[in-house]
Amino acid sequence: MYDLNTHSLSRLCCIALSLILCLPLNAMADWYRQEAAIMGTAINVELWHEDAEQGRVLTQSVMDEMQRIDDLMSTYKPESKLSAVNANAANAPVHVSTELFTLIEHALDFSQVTSGAFDITYASAGQHYDYRTGKKPDKQQLQTALPAINYRHIKLDSQQSTVEFLYPGVRIDLGGIAKGYAVDRSIGMLQDAGVSNALVSAGGDTRVIGKRWDRPWNVGIRNPRSKDSIVSMIPLEDSAISTSGDYERYFEEDGVRYHHILNPGTGKSAHEIHSSSIIGSIATDTDALSTSVFVLGVERGLQLINSIPDTEAVIIDNTGRMHYSTGLAQIHP
Ligand code: ADP
Ligand code: MG
Repeated sequence: MYDLNTHSLSRLCCIALSLILCLPLNAMADWYRQEAAIMGTAINVELWHEDAEQGRVLTQSVMDEMQRIDDLMSTYKPESKLSAVNANAANAPVHVSTELFTLIEHALDFSQVTSGAFDITYASAGQHYDYRTGKKPDKQQLQTALPAINYRHIKLDSQQSTVEFLYPGVRIDLGGIAKGYAVDRSIGMLQDAGVSNALVSAGGDTRVIGKRWDRPWNVGIRNPRSKDSIVSMIPLEDSAISTSGDYERYFEEDGVRYHHILNPGTGKSAHEIHSSSIIGSIATDTDALSTSVFVLGVERGLQLINSIPDTEAVIIDNTGRMHYSTGLAQIHP
């Protein structure tokens, strides 16, 4: 048996130390994480990198990208391009970047496949809600807003890259799709930089690439009525998950919960579901679909998700019962 005496121990230590000293100081394969509050929500990034400096640069670049998209698309910022569209598109076509044009166009695709349950013109009524102060539209405001909610009022000209509203009082808001888009953009940036294991999330929208160590990433679906309890852990590799819930932004009045996901037909919060989670490959799509399913309700929501390949749903209805799309129902009979 090899006897590890004091002499050989100190030699070993010397070798180890000189090996460490040979490495550049910043070279350290590890997980790099960053959290920030952007887009009115919590942004999280976690990635594996061989190099500490690069790891930090990349987590920061995700935050910068989230900020860029918020500056472009926030309706809370009067100077954003989307605010300019809302202020002017009913008077004349407004020129927008290819990026904004393409996302609005994609949002309209979801209006088509959901028969209008997903509709970015929901904001014609949505602008009258303030969930922090408990403000909602009065009867008059709702009556004026309702005919303005219709995605067909949006006219896109791809040649000119313009957006025009064909009806007065139309407002659009990308809150149901922009966070997923921002997550996809961030993951794309990380992939371009050679990262192969990462998680990026913006509130309820998450996308992962690769694994965490040698296991899938785990993303929890929370109990919609208990902040700290998880009802299901979903193992994920190279996919996206989005959850829409009635607990994110809401206030209660006379026993009614007024929350941020509106039925475009009524201009009021949808009530059949407490939370809908969609699993797929692209966060832009899972984001739009989670909002859509929330509005469609259990039956029509599952019907939609079952018709889309490689896309699954976990729905918690307003009695707390869980429902699964067919791909998951085999696992949860
Ligand atoms: P969050 O992650 O903010 O909870 P969700 O994906 O659940 O986002 O979508 C809710 C957001 O979608 C709302 O805050 C609003 O901006 C927007 N929204 C609400 N109702 C609709 C609708 N019927 N169609 C499209 N977008 C909607
Ligand atoms: Mg969504």
